[in-house]
Amino acid sequence: MEILCPHCQHTLHWLKASQFQCSQCHQHFQQHAHCPECQQPLQTLSACGSVSYFCQRGHGLISRQRVLFRYLPVQE
Ligand SMILES: [Zn+2]
Ligand SMILES: [Zn+2]
Repeated sequence: MEILCPHCQHTLHWLKASQFQCSQCHQHFQQHAHCPECQQPLQTLSACGSVSYFCQRGHGLISRQRVLFRYLPVQE
C-alpha cells in the first residue's frame, strides 16, 4: 500500500509505530484510523502481531481495507 504525502504527493516512508515521514518535504505524519461508517477514530487492537481496528460506536471490527487512514502532521 503506497501512502502519499498530503503536502507534496510524494511517497511516505514508514518511520516507527504509526509514524511516517515524507522524503521530499521531511514532514512527519501520524497515521490515524477512522471508521468508514461514522468517521470517528477507531480503537487499535494489537494481537498476535496483527492489528485490528474496532469502532466503539457500534460498527464493530473494521477490516483494514475499509479503514479510512488519515495522516496528520506531527509537530516536532
Ligand atoms: Zn511531502
Ligand atoms: Zn463507526
